[in-house]
Amino acid sequence: MPKIQIMSDSLSNRIAAGEVVQRPASVVKELIENSLDADANEIIIQIEDGGRELIRVTDNGSGMERDDLLLAFEQHATSKLFDIEDLTSIKTLGFRGEALASIASVSRIEARTCNNERPEGFRLLINGGKVDRLEGVAMKRGTSITVRNLFFNTPARKKFLKSANSEYRYIVETVRRFALGRPDIRFHLTADGRDVFILPPSELKERLRQVFSPRYCENLITIHEEEPPFVLNGFLGLRELIRRKSGEQYLFVNGRLVSDRMMNSSVYSAFGTDLDKGEFPFFLLFLTLPPEDVDVNVHPAKTEVKFRNEWQVYQFIRRCTELTIRDFTGKIPASNMDFQSFVSGGLAPRSVPPRLDGEQITLTSKTDGDKIPIPDKPPFSSPESFSLDERIRQFEKSITGSSDSSASPLMTEKNFWQAHGKYIFTQISSGVVVIDQRAAHTRILYDRSLKALQHASSSASQQLLFPVALEMSPDDFSILLEIVPSLEKLGFSMREFGKNSVLIEAVPADLQWLDEGQVILQILDDYKASMRLHNPVSEKIALAYAERAAIRRGESMTPAEMQRLTDELFQTENPYLSPQGKPVIIRLTLSELDRRFEK
Ligand code: ADP
Ligand code: MG
Repeated sequence: MPKIQIMSDSLSNRIAAGEVVQRPASVVKELIENSLDADANEIIIQIEDGGRELIRVTDNGSGMERDDLLLAFEQHATSKLFDIEDLTSIKTLGFRGEALASIASVSRIEARTCNNERPEGFRLLINGGKVDRLEGVAMKRGTSITVRNLFFNTPARKKFLKSANSEYRYIVETVRRFALGRPDIRFHLTADGRDVFILPPSELKERLRQVFSPRYCENLITIHEEEPPFVLNGFLGLRELIRRKSGEQYLFVNGRLVSDRMMNSSVYSAFGTDLDKGEFPFFLLFLTLPPEDVDVNVHPAKTEVKFRNEWQVYQFIRRCTELTIRDFTGKIPASNMDFQSFVSGGLAPRSVPPRLDGEQITLTSKTDGDKIPIPDKPPFSSPESFSLDERIRQFEKSITGSSDSSASPLMTEKNFWQAHGKYIFTQISSGVVVIDQRAAHTRILYDRSLKALQHASSSASQQLLFPVALEMSPDDFSILLEIVPSLEKLGFSMREFGKNSVLIEAVPADLQWLDEGQVILQILDDYKASMRLHNPVSEKIALAYAERAAIRRGESMTPAEMQRLTDELFQTENPYLSPQGKPVIIRLTLSELDRRFEK
């Protein structure tokens, strides 16, 4: 293959490396793209120590000639583009000729390749961008590139690498993306010698099952819409697959994975109001349109594209997804089936498994009544348990500075009112207080779980009558392993149950009205999202848990429950602020009210 070549020194390569190679996963991405461009149908990816020690990608593609092997590591050497007009219809994934040169400048490379049926290939060693050795080697057709000690010569950059576990997860996600885009190709990923994915060529749905978990296949609607010249194929996930963190939105445009917020939001909008803020549905979509309608040349990492007519594409995707969802809900025989019940899980109401519980706690979902999940006896009642009256009086004192302790016992049930399913009003001697019910419950659960996590104690837990198996993707599983000890302190009990799956045997008492599997995945998402924060792990998990388990806005509460909630709130160390730092209580004094009424 002829190559275009512009010579450059290894210093400018190293600068260029910053754009292409940010972390081990970006190396994996570039190497897989090259294998796909070389028409391989089998790609093996091996990593060690999250790719920090070693990344090896082996394919059975076209291979390279001796001279091309040498040229491949020069900057701007590419065999994939022959003239400028080609830019409008790029069919290969790579076309800049930057990747191998950049990777070579910041690592130690061993490349082996053979481009014929005779078992005669070449082996090239490159060290920090400098060719070390080139020799003949016996191998079958294909290419194998090994990248060792990434960033060994750029210590500043090396410091930015995350833990092996985090880098591992980035790599799993990278391989997953390619695997979803090309189910016809065999992929095999191993990490430290252990199999992560073994993916034989298969149908897309089967591929989905293998790279995520069986749950994914059970909760999909198929989409296929055509409006020439556009075609949209793929799957939309049902409510069960909604996550609290974006990242499981896959859009392939002419076979190339694209990240495009606008197109993502076109799908979200088809889900309508049933998608809460901070909720992200799963989708895997393949958009086909004329190559000249899309420019892939806008970003070196090549995950962004520019559509010639963005608005038209947006509308097309939105129409298709909306239609598909409507069709799906329409097909359901139930008379008053609406979209709400579609997204909330399909045909039958979810059955709540019976529990083996000692004390019966009045927790039910909001359709079953208006009870809220406040246990009768708080597990962490303070030893010097005063009455609620007493505490409110202290609260008043602390905010007014007044020493008026003659307040009458106002804190009876009948002094609690709920407004809009969100706020609790109650009377105190100097006026009224308004409590944000969700913020208050979050504070209570946060304090309680933090105590459980920090002390050896563990929280009240409910044994499940029917343990629930939860299978997850390898990357989610690796996060789960990090937080299992904490989850156990919160009252979960689980054990490993086959590859990448656990059996949940008990859940915290606070949680009993929720879907246990879903809750664990959501805690994982929240924990993942908070990994950037420098809080101790126990705080992150306590927060994730409290946010999951706290009463929702819109749930009604009985006066007794409001009283109990308020009671528990004032037992926490800081009743005034939620763990996220938002106010929990607002006080309106009588004098303020009088002033407003111009008295
Ligand atoms: P680009 O992919 O943009 O052309 P790269 O730096 O990624 O640039 O690769 C440089 C060249 O090396 C490619 O154009 C291709 O000719 C050759 N090459 C790289 N990897 C492989 C492979 N796995 N099989 C065959 N040829 C390869
Ligand atoms: Mg490339």
